[in-house]
Amino acid sequence: MASLASPALAAHGILREVFGYDSFRGQQQAIIEHVCTGGDALVLMPTGGGKSLCYQVPAIARARAGLGVTVVVSPLIALMHDQVGALHEAGVDAEFLNSSLSADDAARIERRLLQGEITLLYAAPERLNTPRFLALLDTLHQRHQLSLFAIDEAHCVSQWGHDFRPEYRALSLLHERYAGVPRVALTATADAPTRADMVTHLQLEGARTFVSSFDRPNIRYAIVEKKDGFNQLLRFIEREHTGANGHDAGIVYCQSRKRVEEVAQKLNDAGLKALPYHAGLDGPVRQANQNRFLREEGVIMVATVAFGMGIDKPDVRFVAHLDSPKNIEGYYQETGRAGRDGEAANAWMLYGLQDVVNQRRMIDESPAADAFKQVLRTKLDALLTLAESTECRRVQLLRYFGEDSSPCGNCDNCLHPPETTDATDAARKLLSCIYRVQQASGTAFGAGHIMDILRGKATEKVEQHGHQALSTFGIGADWSETQWRGLLRQLIAREAVWVDAEHYNTLRLTDAAKPILKGEATVRVKTTVDEPASRRKAKAQ
Ligand code: ADP
Ligand code: ZN
Repeated sequence: MASLASPALAAHGILREVFGYDSFRGQQQAIIEHVCTGGDALVLMPTGGGKSLCYQVPAIARARAGLGVTVVVSPLIALMHDQVGALHEAGVDAEFLNSSLSADDAARIERRLLQGEITLLYAAPERLNTPRFLALLDTLHQRHQLSLFAIDEAHCVSQWGHDFRPEYRALSLLHERYAGVPRVALTATADAPTRADMVTHLQLEGARTFVSSFDRPNIRYAIVEKKDGFNQLLRFIEREHTGANGHDAGIVYCQSRKRVEEVAQKLNDAGLKALPYHAGLDGPVRQANQNRFLREEGVIMVATVAFGMGIDKPDVRFVAHLDSPKNIEGYYQETGRAGRDGEAANAWMLYGLQDVVNQRRMIDESPAADAFKQVLRTKLDALLTLAESTECRRVQLLRYFGEDSSPCGNCDNCLHPPETTDATDAARKLLSCIYRVQQASGTAFGAGHIMDILRGKATEKVEQHGHQALSTFGIGADWSETQWRGLLRQLIAREAVWVDAEHYNTLRLTDAAKPILKGEATVRVKTTVDEPASRRKAKAQ
């Protein structure tokens, strides 16, 4: 026990001996020294940054110094299994207590815990709140054998986080009940409101905050307009991820279970090795698919967001979103699963107006409180703005997480700067059309109808409402429907137009439409590749 005097000094030795690594990464060393010496810490590090070592090394160092067990709070059973398995391989005494254990096994672990044989104990948050578990901790605390609390995925405590778990709220009791025991909270989600919530709810006011850069320079971000969804995906995989020896390993995220099944099947039909993963599959099937993804070469996992937390596969070469994610945190966490080995990887996402409308409707129809729905809407809008923007994707993403940076040269917008067109005139046509129609009929209409009027299509519905008589009928005939939809998405992202999901997705103007209508604000849109607006316009003039 040479390191009894200073757990911090032992850290390097543990990194080498136990984990087989030569040096710490990024801020690991500073964090580990702080935690080893009993300081509280809030650690914000991107997925794949190496958060686990930030509490595992201190846990081992402090146990060796006679300070007892580290309790790790972790939200997912699968994650605990993986971590404990990896620690066993490294020769560390680690165990977990969760609902997957039999009563006998749980009792055996409790005994070992009291005998001081366990270095790291993983537990689900709901376990921590049980009288039985608290009594165990009380005993250890009295014996000065409660060394450290590590709270993994700490953003789960925040309603602002994308994974809110009410059981996390009760973790404030750790500080109240075991005041002298240091705590380290870790997360990959770091927007300002979530950060503030973690500090308040976990009572981490006195903790030192360690913010690592969220940049993942080896990941190339691209966001593509959705056209024929699946075929775009197939072409992307064939173009960028297929070589002489087959295709790369990747993850394809879809919005629903049904779509997961369908896409996995179609990829298989196209000769690719794809497996489905969603919460509706039987446990053993899910586990088997996950194992194949981890062990076999070149498996494509088609999954809902249920897949990924705690999955540590270094050579995932691409993460594709076939449907838009709900918010930037989710998008960043999911894409962060690509390229953990530091080699080049792609984050490729499709987005379309229909996805946005669906997401909005899901928010509107959810039973959540209004204030919470507003948070969700704001987050969705931030994602839309990212998708619509012509600015460097990385600059925007990092800005969202509070970091300044300059254009990366390695995202779609940097590599192929989108040509933009001044679309202010068109925007005014579209906005005034929405306005006139509503004024004339006393009710709002959806995107399809508005576009028919703009493009001068005298459909049955147009005639039924007499809308062919409006002054805006046919004023947008020089643009295709695709172009109008692109512009509409942009106006929705700018919140000049609001989609009323409670009333058949009808379009309404907001205050932000006024400066555009008055000519005080300009609107630029990406010039679409298949129908260059500038050329068509030039022809029409
Ligand atoms: P996170 O929890 O932040 O997503 P992990 O703790 O799972 O990240 O670490 C990601 C990967 O990086 C793991 O494979 C881990 O073994 C590896 N890793 C972490 N720290 C180091 C280091 N100092 N040297 C080499 N590899 C490391
Ligand atoms: Zn860029």
